[in-house]
Amino acid sequence: MSFGQIYTGLIDKYFDRLPISNRKNIISIGEGNTPLIKLKNIPKEIGKDVNLYVKFEGLNPTSSFKDRGMTVAVTRAVEEGSNAIICASTGNTSAAAAAYAARAGIKSFVLIPDGKIALGKLAQAIMYGAEIIQIKGNFDDGMQLVKKIGESAPVSIVNSINPFRLQGQKTAAFEIIDELGKAPDYHCLPVGNAGNITAYWMGYCEYSGHIGKMVEKSTRICQDICQYSTDAVTSVPPKMVGYQATMSAPFLRGEPVKDPETIATAIRIGNPQSWDYAWMASRESGGWFDEFSDEEILKVQRMLAEKEGIFCEPASATSVAGALKDIQSGKIAEGSTIVCTLTGHGLKDPDIAINQCKTEMTAIDATFDAVNKAIFAKL
Ligand SMILES: *Cc1c(COP(=O)(O)O)cnc(C)c1O
Repeated sequence: MSFGQIYTGLIDKYFDRLPISNRKNIISIGEGNTPLIKLKNIPKEIGKDVNLYVKFEGLNPTSSFKDRGMTVAVTRAVEEGSNAIICASTGNTSAAAAAYAARAGIKSFVLIPDGKIALGKLAQAIMYGAEIIQIKGNFDDGMQLVKKIGESAPVSIVNSINPFRLQGQKTAAFEIIDELGKAPDYHCLPVGNAGNITAYWMGYCEYSGHIGKMVEKSTRICQDICQYSTDAVTSVPPKMVGYQATMSAPFLRGEPVKDPETIATAIRIGNPQSWDYAWMASRESGGWFDEFSDEEILKVQRMLAEKEGIFCEPASATSVAGALKDIQSGKIAEGSTIVCTLTGHGLKDPDIAINQCKTEMTAIDATFDAVNKAIFAKL
């Protein structure tokens, strides 16, 4: 960007590739344009020569990648005359929906699982003024209810079954190609409802001129509405690698999981809505799925904070857990360029962080001697 130019969000930046008819209608809070950070200390520590990057989506306006899809979904909903939106959510979709609805001056209804939502996400939904409906059920139950309600009530569904969500989310792949000058060899990300892995694959294929089923789909959604750009950066799209939490891993089990569990609540999903598309992304790209226990996920979450100064939420850390495992085993060869999506910010879920180090905190006397002693004991 040149001097004196304000960044005005991803729809404005990638307007010719998104299904919005008029720039005047854009509902944006400056989402997108998130940093691609090269990890320094962790690759050194494991002794592997790789170019390992994280795309820190926790630095979006509501601190998760959900803002990318929501700017497009809400802009479209308003263009179509809608006065209310609805979603089921494990937390981050509700935060984004509530914020963009607030910005648009429309109503938002969010269905969240009773008691299983991270504190920061609930705080956001409250502050942005969503109508919060807690249900005695999980995300999958909420999703089924939202689909039913959307059939009769005058509300627009803004879950990732709304194709405009994925259109917005695909721009993360554009940004990566713009910065690296080509697509990476591997793209690693956590998989819950599987919208994001689908969107990245769509974005990589479209932007790198790789003609497959995803580009057809993406073009179809765009073409009737916008001047869809066919210019492409010539590049080979990456292998898409999706990681899940062991007790919430339908892609590893090969079928929906009935009572998904994991401390990484953002991926506590047993019946992914983008099931077929995620398989398509995995197969077309030559990627794979893998799974991690809660302990492994938390270990990597903490490692990223302690070794690199990057605090992401537990679900996000699965992408790096996966990349590290596959780099160490040699499945991902040295010399490769790998991008991991860190889907959300660590401050979304303060309880998880604090619970991990409760025992390490004890108060001492507020005297020079006591503090001096405490410091020298650790130097
Ligand atoms: C939504 C979300 C995911 C899962 O993304 P899907 O598109 O549902 O697969 C992962 N991490 C975080 C932080 C999320 O908010």
